Amino acid sequence: MPVLDRMCTEELIELENRFGAHNYHPLDVVIERAEGVWVYDVDGKRYLDCLASYSAVNQGHCHPKILNTLIDQAHKVTLTSRAFRNDQLPLLYRDLHELTGFDMVLPMNSGAEAVETAIKAARKWGYKIKGIPDSKAEIVVCANNFHGRTVTIVSFSSDEQYRDGFGPFTPGFKIIPFGDAAALREAITPNTCAFLVEPIQGEAGIIIPPAGYLKEAAEICRQNHVLLVCDEIQSGLGRTGELFAYMHEGIRPDMLVIGKALAGGFYPVSVVLASREVLGVFHPGDHGSTFGGNPLACAVARTALRVLVEEELVKRSKTMGQYFLERLRTLRSWDLKEIRAKGLWIGIEMLSPARPYCEALKEEGLLCKETHDHVIRIAPPLTITSEEIDWAFERIRKVIEAR
Ligand SMILES: *Cc1c(COP(=O)(O)O)cnc(C)c1O
Repeated sequence: MPVLDRMCTEELIELENRFGAHNYHPLDVVIERAEGVWVYDVDGKRYLDCLASYSAVNQGHCHPKILNTLIDQAHKVTLTSRAFRNDQLPLLYRDLHELTGFDMVLPMNSGAEAVETAIKAARKWGYKIKGIPDSKAEIVVCANNFHGRTVTIVSFSSDEQYRDGFGPFTPGFKIIPFGDAAALREAITPNTCAFLVEPIQGEAGIIIPPAGYLKEAAEICRQNHVLLVCDEIQSGLGRTGELFAYMHEGIRPDMLVIGKALAGGFYPVSVVLASREVLGVFHPGDHGSTFGGNPLACAVARTALRVLVEEELVKRSKTMGQYFLERLRTLRSWDLKEIRAKGLWIGIEMLSPARPYCEALKEEGLLCKETHDHVIRIAPPLTITSEEIDWAFERIRKVIEAR
């Protein structure tokens, strides 16, 4: 392999487009380094990151404490596989139990793997505990959901593009409208083992259900002996101004799926949390992952969680989110349809496509990404300050009010 000289933006983009599968349509900014809420491209230009890697870097880019843990642990041991035990996994279990109150943990890597794990756990619970006849288990999900990209997960997507060309699909899912508790009540049969839901739909465009929806859903699930499974891979760990979005409704799901910010953007770490009754259905050999629960992942996740607590990032998300929203509410544009927000999770819905706004914001030094055509998602690291919000707001106003 030749030793390559420093390449410019255009050359790097050309290489990526030539050799990489085109399953993404990124903005043309080539990031070389990052710190806190700021990222820098190969030309040294600075941008404020208002996506935070889909909420995987809630703690801010390259957080020094998490970085130190990564380096220290990498010097000790990185991977043992679950054939043997390691000293970090039990400590992560304990930390997660203390933080969330759930009895048991099952560690995986990507979010999609954890969702798959939750589906397997729910089905097994359905057969072994609820007594559903073999191969009859049903899981109720919501329209416009996003739970990941595996074949089983896209099997219950309502987005045609996510499914197109990927069949045959996994059966056993029923799709109902999001935010409609009556539809949930009607969809449940004696063979329903779980209701899988995002408390707030992120990829769909920061869709906040009617107040009381999740509480009613939890009650319906309880009455029907159905597991409430919350996917908080994006909404969890402080993003919405509570540790988990379900806390806004004072409920507690039977199973919780988290990932993304669990390792502060340093490493893919996901877990499924649940009661002993649910995760107790797994026995040795039933399920696994070579990398799941590895010591590097566990050490990094423990520090990422500690940073979240020590820096009071959940509270920051709430106060800074309110501040950002107050400023955004003063925007005036014929093209502005609606602004939705919970904590530092903000969707600005436009009448026209959002992509050109994101392109223009990039030119102004602010990075965000459109979701579902018309929504500009604003989700900076939770470490953002009010001064940085002012800085971001001036650019958003300039771009939105210019059109
Ligand atoms: C990102 C995301 C996933 C998938 O996580 P990956 O790590 O990309 O597999 C699942 N559910 C939700 C709500 C997400 O935001």
